[in-house]
Amino acid sequence: MLKTPQKLQQMVDAIHASIAVVERHEHEFIILACNERFKNMLGENPNLTPYCSLNSILATSMANTLLRFLPEVFDTDEPIELEQAFEKGQKSKWWRLFLKPMAQPHGHQKRVMITGINMDDKVALETEINKTGARYSSVVKGAFDAIITMDRYQTINYFNRAAELIFEYSAEEIIGKPITSLMPVRHREHHSEYVEEFNNEIVSSRDMGERIQIYGLKKSGVEFAAEISISKILVEGETEFTAIIRDVSQRTQLLDELKFKLNTDYLTGLRNRNYLDHKLISMSNRFKRYGFRFSLLMIDLDHFKQINDTYGHMVGDQILKCFADAATALLREGDKIARFGGEEFAVILPGTELYAAKLTATRLCKHISEQAFIGPDEKVIPFTVSIGVVEFEPEDDVKSIMNRADEALYKAKVGGRNRISD
Ligand code: GH3
Ligand code: MG
Ligand code: MG
Repeated sequence: MLKTPQKLQQMVDAIHASIAVVERHEHEFIILACNERFKNMLGENPNLTPYCSLNSILATSMANTLLRFLPEVFDTDEPIELEQAFEKGQKSKWWRLFLKPMAQPHGHQKRVMITGINMDDKVALETEINKTGARYSSVVKGAFDAIITMDRYQTINYFNRAAELIFEYSAEEIIGKPITSLMPVRHREHHSEYVEEFNNEIVSSRDMGERIQIYGLKKSGVEFAAEISISKILVEGETEFTAIIRDVSQRTQLLDELKFKLNTDYLTGLRNRNYLDHKLISMSNRFKRYGFRFSLLMIDLDHFKQINDTYGHMVGDQILKCFADAATALLREGDKIARFGGEEFAVILPGTELYAAKLTATRLCKHISEQAFIGPDEKVIPFTVSIGVVEFEPEDDVKSIMNRADEALYKAKVGGRNRISD
């Protein structure tokens, strides 16, 4: 239906974009109707009123553009769409312009509708996205942790700089290869099941080292302890996985060293009281749960004060070490010997009843008394031990078995030393 300029004006006022309708009269383009936004877009020109000619009022970069494209739209009846920055005062603003021929009954003047949409917000958004992207990529590139992404078929598609350093592969040579190339052979077989399981889980990220220690495999074939957290995201309908991997071999080694120190006696190299206390707790639990029997030997060197007084503390230390070596050599591998403190030692004999424990204790006692420590100047220094022997009983706990072992040791001492308890 043909619209009068008045109706056109009502229509353009209602539209939430810059809009104007123009007719061509010879070489001039007459504005039939335009809304406030359109006026604003063209720089609030006071001469811009209905029925004015675009040619006469416009001298801006926007006007030049409109005057350049309008003839083409009128001539070809084809719409034109363009996106451009236009100067407005000191600033330049981004606009998308649509120049669209309007359907008119045959024989009537052609009209073109000009629509302008301000793109500043979109451009600002794009700039922000680019900034965020640049920030993200510099974080990923500069990270000390390996960051690797793979698709759901486990093919690597991103490998950051730290990953190159940690795994010794260049991104170029590893991208496109399966992620399993980066793990020890023994972990490869079930990996795809884990990936599938994680893919179907609701959680979007998880720590992989919760159950077992994870290892990575360098190009050179060297394994290293790793900490891995993995997350999944949907990229254009496909699941992609990102793994953040940290080489924790140094930390693991340090922890192992600390654990070793925590449980080891520095003088004799045997385990220490801390180890023994924990072992007794676990043995007691095992007994209560599975009825697994065990015995305990409490060993004390006889007249050790006298040895110290006679030969000096240094020799005393060497004798402690001599006892530790001799006892370790004599005991079975599964037996747990520890230095309990001072010149006292304890041995846990797993799976051993009282009778068998006494045999072991007797053997040890005899062996020590039959050998001697060769001190400075080839001096032969004999020494002996007394041993209290007990077996863990159903009514026992850690404290009671220790007390009973102490009492048994005391009896061996009172009974004359260089012997085991009855
Ligand atoms: P008993 O036969 O009754 O056990 O006599 P003992 O002299 O061995 O007993 P006592 O408990 O009176 O003395 C233990 C001695 O062990 C006292 C202490 O100086 C010595 N001792 C404890 N720890 C060490 C150590 O690390 N090195 C040395 N050289 N001596 C130690
Ligand atoms: Mg003592
Ligand atoms: Mg003693």
